[in-house]
Amino acid sequence: MPRPCSLPLLGTLLGTLLAPLARAQAPPPPPLLIMSAPGPQERVLVVAPHPDDESLCCAGLLQRARANGAAIAVVWITAGDGFELDAMLAEHTLWPKVGNLERLGARRLMEARAAADKLGVPRSQQYVLGYPDHGVVPLLGGFYSRTYHSRYTGLSTVSYPQALSPYAIYTGANLERDLERVMEEYRPTLVLAAAPQDLHPDHYGSGELARRLLERRGELPRLRYWIVHARRWPRPRGYHPGIPLLPPASAAALQWRLFPLDGAERARKLAALREHGSQMRLTAPFMYSFVRANEIFAAPGDWPGD
Ligand SMILES: [Zn+2]
Repeated sequence: MPRPCSLPLLGTLLGTLLAPLARAQAPPPPPLLIMSAPGPQERVLVVAPHPDDESLCCAGLLQRARANGAAIAVVWITAGDGFELDAMLAEHTLWPKVGNLERLGARRLMEARAAADKLGVPRSQQYVLGYPDHGVVPLLGGFYSRTYHSRYTGLSTVSYPQALSPYAIYTGANLERDLERVMEEYRPTLVLAAAPQDLHPDHYGSGELARRLLERRGELPRLRYWIVHARRWPRPRGYHPGIPLLPPASAAALQWRLFPLDGAERARKLAALREHGSQMRLTAPFMYSFVRANEIFAAPGDWPGD
């Protein structure tokens, strides 16, 4: 004789049967709004933790801003000199040493300048700070006032001659002073920096530093966030220029807006990314997946003007 169905079991059964119906009736999320392009009075500054981030996050917006008559600039916080696998390939060695990684940093900075040239960023507005790869969070924490040594390059001072402060000791205070100097000299009206939800410590660390400096200057409404590293994102990997780039679920707390790119802007973004030959060699499918129908940006709070 069959046992009578218990109430909790009946509830589970009903829930399972009705779930597709409930999903079908759930209202779709509201469409993301479009971000307006910078006008001729704007001065745009991209805070790039590594060489290549300027192109991944913002190549389209930089091109449009320039076409509209705005000023555009990039500041690279690190030279990306901690990418050991990259150094192994570039220097043909299984055991990259300090010199190998320093040379990799110099090469990545050259690639970044070539990419920025493609996007129309004047050389005088390409700022290199040269602080250590993977060092931003330690610098802003325990090494704010004492010397940090990079375990990748063995260096403890800025070693790239084109840097804003060559030979500056690796401390958070020096990094902060240099970024402040860029802001003071360039006086940006729009700063594009990594979101707190970006998974790479150099990214969220430099984004937080930019936020802190702007807040101190009373200019926080000038900040917009971008994101490059999130779990299993963007998908699909590879070159899909017609597909929209939508924000990752992990950053849904921010109010994202879409910045649509036209065909020529996408083509030039691809060309800029290809200048990063050392990165393309290892991470091409990831890099190509940022050449999409749009880029995405978020305000730290409510969008100014809404
Ligand atoms: Zn990066």
